[in-house]
Amino acid sequence: MAAKQTKKKQPAKKQEAPKHDESPEHSLFWADQIAEKVRERCEKEPKLNAIVKKKGYLVYDEKTPSGVIHVGSGRGWIIHDVIAKAMRDAGMKGRFVLSSDDIDPFDRMNKGLPAGYEKYLGMPFRNIPSPAEGYKSFADYYFRQAAGKFKEFGIEAKIESTGEQYDKGVFNAAIKTVLDNANRIHEIYMKAYGKADSGKLPFNPICEKCGKIGTTRAYAWDPERQIVKYRCEPNFVEWAKGCGHEGEKSPYNGGGKLPWKVEWAAKWVSKGVVCELAGKDHFTKGGSRTIAMAISDKIFDFPPPYPSTRDSIGEGYEFFNIGGKKMSTSQGRGISFAESTKFAPAKMIRYMLVCTRPRAAIDFDPYRDNDVILLYDRYDRTERIYFGKEKAEGHEVENMKRIYELSHIGKLPSHMPPQIPFTYAASTAQTEKDNKKRIEMLKASGHMDKNATKEDIAYVLDRLRLADDWAKNFASYQYRISLLDEPPKDGISPKMRSVLKSIAYELMENKTEEEVSETIWAAAKASGDAKVFFRSAYLALIGKEQGPKLAPFIMSIGKARVIRLLERL
Ligand SMILES: [Zn+2]
Repeated sequence: MAAKQTKKKQPAKKQEAPKHDESPEHSLFWADQIAEKVRERCEKEPKLNAIVKKKGYLVYDEKTPSGVIHVGSGRGWIIHDVIAKAMRDAGMKGRFVLSSDDIDPFDRMNKGLPAGYEKYLGMPFRNIPSPAEGYKSFADYYFRQAAGKFKEFGIEAKIESTGEQYDKGVFNAAIKTVLDNANRIHEIYMKAYGKADSGKLPFNPICEKCGKIGTTRAYAWDPERQIVKYRCEPNFVEWAKGCGHEGEKSPYNGGGKLPWKVEWAAKWVSKGVVCELAGKDHFTKGGSRTIAMAISDKIFDFPPPYPSTRDSIGEGYEFFNIGGKKMSTSQGRGISFAESTKFAPAKMIRYMLVCTRPRAAIDFDPYRDNDVILLYDRYDRTERIYFGKEKAEGHEVENMKRIYELSHIGKLPSHMPPQIPFTYAASTAQTEKDNKKRIEMLKASGHMDKNATKEDIAYVLDRLRLADDWAKNFASYQYRISLLDEPPKDGISPKMRSVLKSIAYELMENKTEEEVSETIWAAAKASGDAKVFFRSAYLALIGKEQGPKLAPFIMSIGKARVIRLLERL
């Protein structure tokens, strides 16, 4: 509605060209469109053309392992993974590299750290001991918590260490360019912010004496000797204290790092990055992307990666959160990527991110029944369309097929797995604990084929497990069910008792959910008060005044058990 109102205010325009090319050979799926745009751009730009011919299409992302990594970062990783896959599907050599910015300085204590870690403030994360055993460093500890889940999420990425890239000299040429052009970089900062530290070169050496990188000021560059002179200043930053050492060193091969915004551009040109999205917080006016773009263009003469160009910044992706009022987290703003699978299976999180355009925000609340139920329903619909079991309008078919393919983790199934609607699965799972009986019931109700394969059965049992877990931990009262052993003595009037008892006999004859539904509605009507009828039915079966939709519920828990309870009313 809001969108319509804003449209009205705009002056009438001439008929606009349609946003997408409507010819069927162009995919409507966002990642296919991005892959195509990147290809077009690389064909036009001789510099990029040469790079992709040699190295393929590099889709890049980076993350500072400064603490527990928020689930919002996972959105970027899945977006980049999907783009790289879309590129490969289009015959382009797409690959996704994720670099851990482990040479960044430790600039803030976090709650998960043991006491005494203050002494490491100012040091690169990769040179700080891990707060837990079994990890190489502070950086390794936090980064691996997230990256360790990649397989589960179907993310195919080459993981790199930015610090190691510095050590290997990957950025040496860029560092030289930066130091040779320090004045021009200074001008870019002045133009953007109106101020800049004139006594500091855009390079942060690691102090040879105390090992800190956050406290050093490089103040002179000797291009002859290729040496930077620096001081490790006690008051350079508020969060760490420098040791006062004054020295000189080579900036190359891990001698230090470039400041973040300069480093971003240096990575693009050094690695040959052609696509790198980022969260929209980086895309604000005067934000890190603007500066990195200007440095890429003016200092390195390199076109910034998609969605930015030399002149235009493009759009960042919107935020992604799994949270809600009931969730309390250490970070206070939603959960970490690593713990996200406690709230929804990786498969569903991936699907959510693949089927949503990067420009739309997602706030998923596992405690909101509809968030979960609709997610599974949408997934099942996508799957039906993929397997041609449900019709869809025009291009939606192709779009849904791409979403299914790219959100699927592992090998695509050869036939459609049996679909048990999520709430139906929740009722079955809660009221029948025996797997063999569950499968028998689902076969009897027509939800599974009599000749279901082993894989089908495994798939269905997994859905039941997920639905059971949801009902126990997240669902609201009405979806939490346990079938009574005996009908209740109170709460149901003699009249309703006899109405319900009478439908027990009809239910025996009913075969399908539709027939059950007809029986129920006829009885509700005949009872004279449908509201009281349904309340009595739920009381008789589960001891509550309300519950899931009655006909599918009766089917999902098995007619025989319902009849047994009703007969004893
Ligand atoms: Zn020092």
